Amino acid sequence: MEKFCIIGYPVSHSASPKIYNEYFKRINYDGFYGMEEIAPENFENRIDHIFEHYDGFNVTIPHKERVIPHLKMIEEGARIVGAINCVVSKNRKGCNTDWMGFVRSFPKTDWNGIIVLGAGGTARAVIYGLRKIGVSRITLLNRTYTKALSLKKWADSFGMEITAKPLDTLKQVLKYGKILINTTSVGMRGEKFDLSMKDLENLNLIYDVIYFKTPLQEMGKAMGIKVVDGKEMLYNQAVENLKIWDVPLVESLFREIFNDVMGKMRS
Ligand code: NAP
Repeated sequence: MEKFCIIGYPVSHSASPKIYNEYFKRINYDGFYGMEEIAPENFENRIDHIFEHYDGFNVTIPHKERVIPHLKMIEEGARIVGAINCVVSKNRKGCNTDWMGFVRSFPKTDWNGIIVLGAGGTARAVIYGLRKIGVSRITLLNRTYTKALSLKKWADSFGMEITAKPLDTLKQVLKYGKILINTTSVGMRGEKFDLSMKDLENLNLIYDVIYFKTPLQEMGKAMGIKVVDGKEMLYNQAVENLKIWDVPLVESLFREIFNDVMGKMRS
């Protein structure tokens, strides 16, 4: 049997075991996907056990960086983003499927006028993904301005030119932007950006990494703007995990199971 799991702290909220186990069952694959909650203080004691007992695993908060010294190979994107979320145990290879999932889910449109909100781990995956598809200039806004400046410096190293601004300039910046990408956690608990419909009227696309409905997504939809929510990035990073682990991929079935499980969660 092929064994996989997700490691993190906490992980009990994760939909991954339900999605993968149902998928394995439906394609008659001899596989199992479990959950390993590892508190930060136990990480060094437990990580070798994870490599020994699982063929592959996903890594979530707070271990995405801590796993790096335990790897022998790191995929280029994961190295640049500085975070691992998918590991193959036999060769100790680490990948970042967040950026891959972003690339697979980002609509093919005119990519001029991209505004990215946030400067955390997800922002890095998204910015790297944007560069991979050929975008070379974006405006980045973050609540903590110094973090936006750090990302500007980081992105220079792979040819992405960032204009960094504090988040409170968003209304002005939106006058010139066409695509708004939210990589912050704002909206996860219904929080709102300080924006009215008028502020969004220039936009063609809102891409929000939050899996569930947010006020920003709702406002965009009400205005007839194309809105892509975080379920698309999540689904597509899961597809990339299956490929990396060499699990047979039947995309239509995997999509059906993903939609079914996610639909039963908060939406
Ligand atoms: P992170 O590294 O902690 O970064 C959080 C970001 O959100 C920072 O830029 C932070 O700004 C900003 N922020 C938080 N609260 C804010 C507020 N009240 N007002 C303005 N800005 C605020 O987190 P992360 O790992 O990047 O994750 C961000 C979100 O992405 C989470 O909701 C996560 O669930 C989601 N995510 C989705 C996917 C997917 O597949 N769809 C994948 C990964 C993550 P400061 O720098 O000022 O603190």
